[in-house]
Amino acid sequence: MSETLAELVRGLAAGRFSSVELVDACLAAIGRHRDLNAFITVDAGAARAAAADADRLRAGGGQAPLLGVPFAHKDIFCTAGVRTTCGSRMLADFVAPYDATVVEKLRAQGAVMLGKTNMDEFAMGSSNETSHFGAVRNPWDPARVPGGSSGGSAAAVAAGLVPAATGTDTGGSIRQPAAFCGITGLKPSYGRVSRYGMIAFASSLDQAGPMARSAEDCAYLLAAMAGFDERDSTSHARPVDDYVGGLAGDLKGLRVGVVREHFGAGLDAAIGAATHAALAELERLGATLVDVSLPNSAMSLPCYYVLAPAEASSNLARYDGVRYGYRARDYRDLEDMYKKTRGQGFGAEVKRRIMVGTYALSAGYYDAYYLKALKLRRLVADDFARAFAHCDVIAGPTAPTTAFALGAKSDDPVSMYMNDIYTIPVNLAGLPALSMPAGFVEGLPVGLQLTGSYMDEARLLRVAHRYQQATDWHRRLPPLS
Ligand code: GLN
Repeated sequence: MSETLAELVRGLAAGRFSSVELVDACLAAIGRHRDLNAFITVDAGAARAAAADADRLRAGGGQAPLLGVPFAHKDIFCTAGVRTTCGSRMLADFVAPYDATVVEKLRAQGAVMLGKTNMDEFAMGSSNETSHFGAVRNPWDPARVPGGSSGGSAAAVAAGLVPAATGTDTGGSIRQPAAFCGITGLKPSYGRVSRYGMIAFASSLDQAGPMARSAEDCAYLLAAMAGFDERDSTSHARPVDDYVGGLAGDLKGLRVGVVREHFGAGLDAAIGAATHAALAELERLGATLVDVSLPNSAMSLPCYYVLAPAEASSNLARYDGVRYGYRARDYRDLEDMYKKTRGQGFGAEVKRRIMVGTYALSAGYYDAYYLKALKLRRLVADDFARAFAHCDVIAGPTAPTTAFALGAKSDDPVSMYMNDIYTIPVNLAGLPALSMPAGFVEGLPVGLQLTGSYMDEARLLRVAHRYQQATDWHRRLPPLS
């Protein structure tokens, strides 16, 4: 399926096809491309039934904004009655007793869930190789990774298995896979989308957001996902902007910040060139480029890799074999049960994070690492505040490389972590950012990251939409058989 979600919304409204036809087409595509391993669970029966309901509702005059539109959820969102694995053996058979707020909201808008997409275990990774359910393949080149941790969602959208999917982004997990797979993905401001029922990795950084073909599609999805939720204490009360209505408009007078530190060592030269071409296109569309600096951005990676593991070590303490999830079969006593359960239930990357995080939070090291990292986080956020005094959005590369080969970085965690060098500062500052297709290097997609000030999602989507009206990178499809 090559149509955008917005086109499907219009086609359904005009009666050009039914939701049942769309869902059947998606299920057939999922079946044809099983080798991508994009899905952990496909819920064909429920999807067909929901599509038939949507068609009946529409025939009776019903018109929810996403009525009958097929999509998929990253397998980090709790879905009542359908297993939620978070890519882990620990939750391989876990069926949540309730729906996440994002799940509830998309259903209330009429969207039809086809299944749950593959992901790095507990969303820890940049390549989707840490999943207990196996690696996902990049539709542009099956020997390469799709990015992570929302790699299943990105691959599913890029391959046309679904028009849209949800993702989550703690340090880049929506934007980096969107860049690697040639789709558009938005990480909203911290607090814009409810985290209730979204399995926690690093609670002060985690945000859910949309992944789809275009900025217009992301506007439809964000409109459905965003909003205050009393069940999430960090949810923001500010009313939701009109993202779809806000797409119209040109870029005249827009000040686009270009970050000096984005073009230093580590950036692939061809990606640098593609980024400059995209910046020139924004200029042609009426924007003015402004030189800005984020001097502390080099500190973001070490800061993140103290804070995120620290929060993860605390969040993952709940998987103890007692309450829910995996429990080791043979054990001597309670302590042995804990050890075996966690030893067998978690994969290597998750264990690495738990150990780093526990160390950073321990009595002797708390001040030296955790507290220090909190201070650095503030400096990184202040950098953005200073930059946004001179510009309206910041534009730059999403990732320093295109999709790398499967296995290329598996034995080198630090080089894997480096892939999020441009995305992580945004999470530390709690800001919104999106990645959109902006060219190709040797047949592989390149992403352009647009970052906005707090709660400025509508502007980001408008800029991306204008760029996509003038370019066709987001329309290119991978050469799948
Ligand atoms: N790749 C980063 C990590 O491994 C970010 C992951 C994410 O955003 N969930 O922590």
